[in-house]
Amino acid sequence: MKWGNKPYYSLDFYLRQKFGQKVFKISLDGGFTCPNRDGTISEKGCIFCSERGSGDFTPPSHLSITEQFIKGRKLLEKKWPSGKYIAYFQAFTNTYAPIKELRKKYEEALSIPGVVGIAIATRPDCLDNSVLDLLEEINKKTYLWVELGLQSIHETTASLINRGYSLSCFEDAVNNLFKRKIEVVVHLILGLPGENKNDMLDSIKYINNMPIQGIKLHLLHVLKNTPLHSIYKKNPFHILEMKEYVNLVIDCLEILSPSIVIHRITGDGSKNILVAPTWSKNKRAVLNEIHKTFKLRNTWQGKFFSISCTK
Ligand code: SF4
Repeated sequence: MKWGNKPYYSLDFYLRQKFGQKVFKISLDGGFTCPNRDGTISEKGCIFCSERGSGDFTPPSHLSITEQFIKGRKLLEKKWPSGKYIAYFQAFTNTYAPIKELRKKYEEALSIPGVVGIAIATRPDCLDNSVLDLLEEINKKTYLWVELGLQSIHETTASLINRGYSLSCFEDAVNNLFKRKIEVVVHLILGLPGENKNDMLDSIKYINNMPIQGIKLHLLHVLKNTPLHSIYKKNPFHILEMKEYVNLVIDCLEILSPSIVIHRITGDGSKNILVAPTWSKNKRAVLNEIHKTFKLRNTWQGKFFSISCTK
């Protein structure tokens, strides 16, 4: 198989090719906030977003970047003493601060021995020219990718989830990053209320057309104390069953371009705050089921990718 032992182009494979060895991501909380939560765009946030700004696995933000990194690396370094690392600014919006502060935090992460690059999760509307200039400068010195949470291409869904920016804003951000040779990773959520299989496949077809490096497919999680949780309590909507999710992921990957790297194919919600679906707590079992079903269906990423899979 051209991607090692997996029927899709995994991030692990991509990073091994690039760095010649295993590379780990260490999640960090840079202590930023988000314009969709601080009142600049809204105070509600995206309806699925947890109290920690989707950074539930990061150490607390009162620790310095270096302290957080050391904490995150602790378990890994026993097994992989000479491991290489990507410092992953995950929680909240990691380009939403004065340039001086951004530079200081990124540079601190990059100065830690073993760090070979950084990943920065942000919103497309938080990438003005001054931020892009800084990212371009960093990209020339080290390895960088930027993650954007699109979730869905459909405007009705974007409004339902209170995403707070338009599809054209996303397109501009991707194109601006691409022009500056910065790699982009896009997040999509499967199972959002009101979306059927064709809606989700349409988001994949659209992504096929964008100049991006990778994709993260998330299972929709209902997390405690989120607006989505309130909606779910009042009007329980359909939550994907495991088999349904597994087949949907494979349907998506079959039409996805084989050149797009898969950063994630399952959800990663914190068990303590997960309301539904509870089957996703066993991440290993979900991954095993996905790999087993790939074999049963005798299929792989891009099997049905063609020009008709672009939108
Ligand atoms: S943009 Fe990110 S941090 Fe902000 S509310 Fe949405 S998911 Fe949460």
